[in-house]
Amino acid sequence: MDRKTFQNKCRKITKELIKKSFPELKKKRVLVFVPLFFRKAYSGLALWIPPFPRMLFLNKERSTESDSFLRGLLSHELGHQSLHFMRGLKKSIILASLYWLSKKVRRKEEDEANKLIIRRGYARDIYATTKRLEKIKTCGGIQKYYMSSEEIKSYAKKIGKW
Ligand SMILES: [Zn+2]
Repeated sequence: MDRKTFQNKCRKITKELIKKSFPELKKKRVLVFVPLFFRKAYSGLALWIPPFPRMLFLNKERSTESDSFLRGLLSHELGHQSLHFMRGLKKSIILASLYWLSKKVRRKEEDEANKLIIRRGYARDIYATTKRLEKIKTCGGIQKYYMSSEEIKSYAKKIGKW
């Protein structure tokens, strides 16, 4: 699948996810891009820098992954946008800065994004995404910032969302 086709696919999935499960983002503009270059370890990125619209960036190297993987990845990035929305701009800016400075803040932010989408019914998708990323060597260095597939499963079971 070429980059443009993958970008269109991601846009379509994102639109469906927002419609179904992210009501707070329905009236917001969320743009989805698959850029030419992306850092190897990363699969996606959620950005909100006003006055620009909310944006998601996806790594084109994930274009061969399953639909469930992509739903997990895109719902995770939308989870970040929902957290931004609920916090408002000031808090989001402070947290975005701390995200890159503090390992603890970063881990907590990633946990919150995953827990939000698990509560909204995407446990099996983010499980599939995480399970796969745990196997991709180039992603190994950043996995410590994320819930493991087993942590996802046990959290989902605990709250009755598995
Ligand atoms: Zn994230």
